[in-house]
Amino acid sequence: MSNKYPNPHANKIFTALLQYYKGHGTALRFSTTFQLLCAVILSAQTNDNQVNKITDKLFAVASDSAALAAMSLEQIEELIKTCGLYKNKARHLQQAARIINEQYGGEVPQTREELETLPGVGRKTASVVLFVGFNIPALPVDTHVLRVANRLALADSSTPAGTEKQLCAQLAPELWGDIHHALIWHGRTICLGRKPQCAKCFLRQDCPFVV
Ligand code: SF4
Repeated sequence: MSNKYPNPHANKIFTALLQYYKGHGTALRFSTTFQLLCAVILSAQTNDNQVNKITDKLFAVASDSAALAAMSLEQIEELIKTCGLYKNKARHLQQAARIINEQYGGEVPQTREELETLPGVGRKTASVVLFVGFNIPALPVDTHVLRVANRLALADSSTPAGTEKQLCAQLAPELWGDIHHALIWHGRTICLGRKPQCAKCFLRQDCPFVV
């Protein structure tokens, strides 16, 4: 594995994570990059299974930016109302759809700068769209990535920005997205927030946080 700044501890953990979670990508369902963007906007403080139930209904009615931009706010709210913060998210979806439809010819822009100007799109959402949608290196840091990376001493930061910077500095860009997914899956299935399942964790021998 090609780490930029080899560190034996980190190298061992990264290698084990990449091997164990090989092939584990996003759990969100989508057919186009526009749908991916919508799903990621909806996923803030909502789990992916819930988002998939919502987008199954939403994309059946509005599968592209033109169709979503033409919907009223009330129609969008009705379709996504089981999602947390649904009123804000409905507004963001409608505005983002209109901008993409009018300014980008219906295609999701491919730069971080452009993505982060869209309503409801911050650094983490832009990073997911860049990596998952366009295969452009990015390492989105959500609550799972932040927690697991710091427990494993792959990072030493209480912020997403600090954790992202430290993780990226240790890895070749082509590994950023895969490590993002590996850390997410580890956080969802084994290194749980309140009760990490250390007894069955394949990293327990090397984890300073093991309980
Ligand atoms: S040993 Fe425990 S704390 Fe460490 S990564 Fe595994 S589950 Fe998380």
